[in-house]
Amino acid sequence: MEYVELNNGVVMPVLGYGTYLTPRRVTQRHVADALDAGYRLIDTAQNYGNEREVGAAVRASGLGREEVFVTSKTQTSGYRSTRAGIEDSLAAAGLDYFDLMIIHWPNADSRGTYRALEEAYRTGQLRAIGLSNFNRKQVLEIIDTADVVPAVDQIETHLYWQQWGMHDFLTSHGIVHESWSPLGEGQSGMLRDPVLVRIGRTHGKSPAQVLLRFLTQNRIVSIPKSLNPEHIRENLNIFDFRLSDEELGAIRAQDAKRSQSGWPAAMSTEEHY
Ligand code: NAD
Repeated sequence: MEYVELNNGVVMPVLGYGTYLTPRRVTQRHVADALDAGYRLIDTAQNYGNEREVGAAVRASGLGREEVFVTSKTQTSGYRSTRAGIEDSLAAAGLDYFDLMIIHWPNADSRGTYRALEEAYRTGQLRAIGLSNFNRKQVLEIIDTADVVPAVDQIETHLYWQQWGMHDFLTSHGIVHESWSPLGEGQSGMLRDPVLVRIGRTHGKSPAQVLLRFLTQNRIVSIPKSLNPEHIRENLNIFDFRLSDEELGAIRAQDAKRSQSGWPAAMSTEEHY
C-alpha cells in the first residue's frame, strides 16, 4: 500500500474500497473480503445506508482500529442536523471515530454543515474532515470562513474526466484530490480503452489496474468498487509496477473532460471546475 499525508498530518491509504449501492445484506461480507485482501481504506456514506455493516466488518476483522481508515459522508444540511447525523453514524457503525467525514454534496447551508464537522473534528470524533462534489468556487466559500482547511475533495475522476484543473487547484490549497468512480463504473467501454489495453500488455496488467495505477501514481486517492472477489484482489494489485512518463502522458491524452454521470451539474460548468 502507498499513502498520502493529509494537511493535518493524518495518513490515508491511496487506494481503498467503495461501497456505493452495495446492498446492506451483503456489505459486511464484501467489506470483510476487501479487508482480507489487504484494503485498509473503506468508503461509506449515510446515503448508502450501510455504515452499520461497514463498521461491523471493521470491528470483526481482527485488525486494530488504527489499521483501517474509514470514510463516511454527511447527507444533512446545516449545523444541527449534521451534528446529530454524525452521532447517529458513529453509533450505527459502532465506532468511536471516523478517520474522515466529508460533506457528500454542496447544500443550502454548506457552511453550517461544515461547522458541525469542525466541531466533531475538535472533539476527536473525526480525525479529518473534507468535501465531496464541491467545485472550485464552492471550495473557496468553505475555506473563506473555515477554521480547518478541508483535507480532501472527493470528485468524479477517471480516464475520460481527469479533472486536472481541479487537481491543480486543490493541490495548491493543500487539499487531497480523491476520485469517485475511478473505473467509470465499468461503463463507456473505459476498461477496453486501447491505450489502457496496450500499456497493460507491456506490464502484464489489466486495463483496470493500469487506470488505478495512473490515478494513484498521480497521488489521486481512488476507491474502486467491486463485489467480485477476483476484481477486489486485482484492483489492489497495482503497487508492483510503475508507469513511465511516456505511458502517463499517453493516458493523460485520453482525457475527454467529460463527466460520465453528469452529476452534480455545478461540477461541469466551465468557469467553476
Ligand atoms: P467504479 O468506478 O469503482 O466502478 C465499479 C464497477 O466497475 C463495478 O461495479 C464493476 O462493474 C466494475 N469493475 C470493478 N473492478 C473491475 C475490474 N477489475 N475489472 C473490470 N470491471 C471492474 O464505480 P463506483 O462504485 O461508482 O465508484 C467507486 C466508489 O466511489 C463508490 O463505491 C463510492 O464509495 C464512491 N462514490 C462516491 C460518490 C460521491 O458522490 N462522493 C459518487 C459515486 C461513487
